[in-house]
Amino acid sequence: MAAAEPFLAYGRQTIEDDDIAAVAAALSDDFLTTGPKVEAFEAAFAGAVGAAHAVACSNGTAALHLAMLALGVAEGEVCIVPSITFLATANAARYVGAEVVFADVDPESGLMTPETLEAAIRRAEGRRIAAVLPVHLRGDIAELPALRALADRAGAVLVEDACHALGSAMRFDGAAACAGDNRYGALATFSFHPVKTLTTGEGGMVTAADPRLAERLRRFRSHGMEKPAGADPWWYEMAQPGFNYRLPDILCALGLSQLAKLPRLAERRRTLARRYEAALAPLAPLVRPAARPPWSDPTLHLMTVLIDFAAAGRTRRQAMDALGRRGVGTQVHYIPVHRQPYYRARYGDLTLPGAEAWYARCLSLPLYPAMEDADPDRVAGALAEALAP
Ligand SMILES: *Cc1c(COP(=O)(O)O)cnc(C)c1O
Repeated sequence: MAAAEPFLAYGRQTIEDDDIAAVAAALSDDFLTTGPKVEAFEAAFAGAVGAAHAVACSNGTAALHLAMLALGVAEGEVCIVPSITFLATANAARYVGAEVVFADVDPESGLMTPETLEAAIRRAEGRRIAAVLPVHLRGDIAELPALRALADRAGAVLVEDACHALGSAMRFDGAAACAGDNRYGALATFSFHPVKTLTTGEGGMVTAADPRLAERLRRFRSHGMEKPAGADPWWYEMAQPGFNYRLPDILCALGLSQLAKLPRLAERRRTLARRYEAALAPLAPLVRPAARPPWSDPTLHLMTVLIDFAAAGRTRRQAMDALGRRGVGTQVHYIPVHRQPYYRARYGDLTLPGAEAWYARCLSLPLYPAMEDADPDRVAGALAEALAP
């Protein structure tokens, strides 16, 4: 009997010998944390995405929390968050006492749109909207110029949750931009969790154009401590409590090593995505890749497809189990956050039809750089069998 083909997880880190060597070397440095590797990683990251400033922190959730703190988002204010995202995007608003108004999403792309943002602004009912947090789901870019214009008109700051979008590009009206360059969002947040495009085990980053925001991010990252210019060497002051959200030098060394591979890893994701699109084409209309907005040039973090389970006569669970038996791991991105017991208890039962329609059909297929060229065909074949009548 032929050896079983290797199991394909829906996502997986790429750790190579030089990454391991970089971490091992960093362990012998004088500074294990708050040392020179932190600024080196931040500078390299800012350079890679075209941002003026980048502030490293302990994870993508801390990045979102720091964004809220740096902007001074507070109790009594509102943040608008798409319902199709990871919990952390919404929870960040709650960490600072702000209320969440969930925006619906386009059912084909899963993204917040100008229309769904406008509807959410209406549902904010005159409360002060502090921030709007579009999510670049799976790496595809939300319609940033229009979202920015609506946020500006509402007096709100645009914060991009770019945790899926490292390496993604966009083009609006002929102007090229890169996720995290802060052309549209005052702040953009990233995660280096192992399933994301680059990893430091746990880690995060916030990019900013405004140096005062970068300074506030740094202060809140480290307890709210400040050293006034000319103060005695031991002196520090705290005007407002912060957190310990630092990323250690050991992990910044891994981040630097990973960042050097971003062009290669991103290109590999793009190649695999193209192979998936070709392999999945015969399965239409039962299976279709999530819709790609015309301005979006993504480095996909997730290969999400939309499946008409009713037409296939299968539940998602049956399809997922059948794929699992064929060595194909899948995941659901995401359960609409407004459905979580915490948010239902707080805001009641909302009706967000786009988010429901997305959730009913979405399934993320394996996508990570170490996959073989033939794997997208193998996955598409397994999917065809799993959905066959
Ligand atoms: C991963 C992720 C986060 C949180 O990042 P962590 O590093 O896991 O804390 C936030 N938002 C989105 C969209 C994510 O995918």
